[in-house]
Amino acid sequence: MENVFLSLGSNLGDRNSYLQYACQMIEQRIGVVEHKSSVYESAPWGYVSNNFFYNQVLQIQCNIEALELLSNLQQIEHELGRERYASHYVDRTLDIDILFFGEQVISLPQLTVPHPYITQRRFVLEPFSEIAPFFIHPVLKLTIQQLLEQCEDKSFIRKLESTT
Ligand code: ATP
Ligand code: CA
Ligand code: CA
Repeated sequence: MENVFLSLGSNLGDRNSYLQYACQMIEQRIGVVEHKSSVYESAPWGYVSNNFFYNQVLQIQCNIEALELLSNLQQIEHELGRERYASHYVDRTLDIDILFFGEQVISLPQLTVPHPYITQRRFVLEPFSEIAPFFIHPVLKLTIQQLLEQCEDKSFIRKLESTT
């Protein structure tokens, strides 16, 4: 069993439903969802758009290899209407990133774990710190709480009232 953390984001359509569908599909196809953060609203990171994101972090337990997990997650993105374009940062119904895959460090053309931008993204660290503040980044050897305290991201983010 691997202890895995995922980041979910949606900034098109019914953002809340996309997060909920994704979570259900992960549970049906991939593994047990142990913890779910609250949903946060955040300004787009790295590009300009009027469509703010809903973000959430999930902790799951799964029994599959990292590349198989990635392809399962991409299939879910696809089924929930994600379209891919040549340009990188664009609006999307659903984005699922692998933040951590246990303690593993993976450096492949199609997969980098730990996710390289965790430390620069408040929209990842805030929800993460809600569910696992003392999880230690296996490369940086700092807790999520410490990374959040050090984070210089000044982008807008707010926690939404629970809808579930
Ligand atoms: P970012 O990674 O900066 O958040 P993004 O999520 O917008 O960017 P995508 O267009 O969703 O990027 O994905 C581009 C590629 O990133 C994917 O096809 C996947 O192969 C690769 N990738 C590398 N590392 C990861 C990871 N840890 N989780 C998910 N995808 C990854
Ligand atoms: Ca992403
Ligand atoms: Ca992605």
